[in-house]
Amino acid sequence: MENEKLRQALRCLDCQGELEAVGDTIQCRKCSRQYSKIGNSIIFNKPKEFSSEEKNNTDSLVFKIKNQFKKSPKLFTLLHHLIYPVVGKSSKKFVKSLPPGALIINLGSGVMSISPRVIDVDYVPYANVSIVADAHQLPFKNESVDAVIAEHLLEHLSDPDKAVAEVKRILKPNGLIYILTPFMLGFHSSPNDYYRWTTEGLRELWKDFDLEKSGVAIGQTSAMTILIIDWLSSLLSFGSKILYQTWLPILMVFLIPINWLDFILSRYKFSSNNALALYFIGRKKSN
Ligand SMILES: [Zn+2]
Repeated sequence: MENEKLRQALRCLDCQGELEAVGDTIQCRKCSRQYSKIGNSIIFNKPKEFSSEEKNNTDSLVFKIKNQFKKSPKLFTLLHHLIYPVVGKSSKKFVKSLPPGALIINLGSGVMSISPRVIDVDYVPYANVSIVADAHQLPFKNESVDAVIAEHLLEHLSDPDKAVAEVKRILKPNGLIYILTPFMLGFHSSPNDYYRWTTEGLRELWKDFDLEKSGVAIGQTSAMTILIIDWLSSLLSFGSKILYQTWLPILMVFLIPINWLDFILSRYKFSSNNALALYFIGRKKSN
């Protein structure tokens, strides 16, 4: 493990023992459990494989297109920011505000690397991912991490409360979180999609954290255009799943540019009422 700070923060999933590098694998000093590596990723959980049912979700074509673009992470990141402009405080700015040397992890990073300072954690071993783990059971020691980022993650977890408890456990006292979750956004498989939160819902979910800042991450125009695109695709599908899925990307090309109006609208106080996504920056209470 190249990153000594990261090595010191990790622990065995079974016995919570210390880990050490042994040849090409990582081994627990206490119970000898071995964790393999794929490229630069240490595998704590079997990497996610998508079931045929998940592959056949109603938006499976969009899911497939997304996965194609993920093969070019830079292009995927650029397109994501063009389609869904982040108008509030971004995770990039959040990272810049953290002191040098802080151990920062990004849960559910996917292929989108925020900064070389951040350790990417995902259940798919993308090239940028250092730790392949499940957000419901993280291989980090108690109070070992300075900051946790989770964008577009919690809605895809079957038990977000469990992940919240894990984040609270691994964060140092006064540790910081940057959370981004969708609010006014329809079903999007990745491969599952379970939950949505309002501004108040996010505060309730992270009630063991002091609110530092929250607000609109992705604005109401983005929410509206996605809804119109989906509605028009349904209307013009005549009930055919193939037509519905074909219309989605075509209509996106024409309607997405107006999403940039959100840079104006997000200045208004009430814009969070119908925003596509909200962010929440919190500080772990020290008691
Ligand atoms: Zn062990």
